[in-house]
Amino acid sequence: MAGMRLTVIGCSGSFPGPDSPASCYLLEADGFRLVMDMGNGALGVLQRHAELFGIDAICVSHLHGDHCIDLSSYWIARQYAPDGSRPPIPVYGPQGTAARVAGFCAEDVASIRARFEVHDLEPGSREIGPFRVTADRMNHPVETFGFRVEHAGWKLAYSADTGETDALVRLAEGVDVLLSEASFQDGPGNPPDVHLTARQAGEHATRAGARQLVLTHLVPWYDRERSLAEAAESYCGPLLAANTAMVIGPGTAG
Ligand SMILES: [Zn+2]
Repeated sequence: MAGMRLTVIGCSGSFPGPDSPASCYLLEADGFRLVMDMGNGALGVLQRHAELFGIDAICVSHLHGDHCIDLSSYWIARQYAPDGSRPPIPVYGPQGTAARVAGFCAEDVASIRARFEVHDLEPGSREIGPFRVTADRMNHPVETFGFRVEHAGWKLAYSADTGETDALVRLAEGVDVLLSEASFQDGPGNPPDVHLTARQAGEHATRAGARQLVLTHLVPWYDRERSLAEAAESYCGPLLAANTAMVIGPGTAG
């Protein structure tokens, strides 16, 4: 495989839609598989693109169910595999991730930690397999991390869930692809500091100098074409709306 590859597993915002699970992205490079977020229904579709136990690490942006609830499904798979429980794999998430999964599973935290080696995220960079992953806090009602992922000179940023924030512009500076949430559309009544409109996603991409913008976390009750049209008014580069099974990486951008 030449370089890194991101496969969109789930891009439906806030809850799963008819055509996509909630948030989940598979990143692959050098035979290593990193999953970012694991929302409702993600584990099912993920198995179309990776072996059930072929995942090497997981990053969780925040503890809203539409970004992490299928960690509980994956814990069950690793715990109760008929040929034996699987060893713990690294899970990077906000403080409280193990307790959150324990709650979903109605298990104790020690049982969760027997399958998931949970690390608390902090702003900053770390190596996860072949990837350099930089996390920073986004603007959302619970502690939420956006990610910048770099491999062999190719750069991707993922907004997770966020309202407007300079931190996203910094994370996405000069990236090849900004995968940005666009939960809202123009109009009155959008609450501040929760989500971006598609137009605001475009503004962040423009300010960051991102070479391509992919809208994601698209909520099923909104029209995708309208979101694309609104983003196109504030971002003039290549622009797409995410679909499940979409592949992003060197050679596919633009
Ligand atoms: Zn959220």
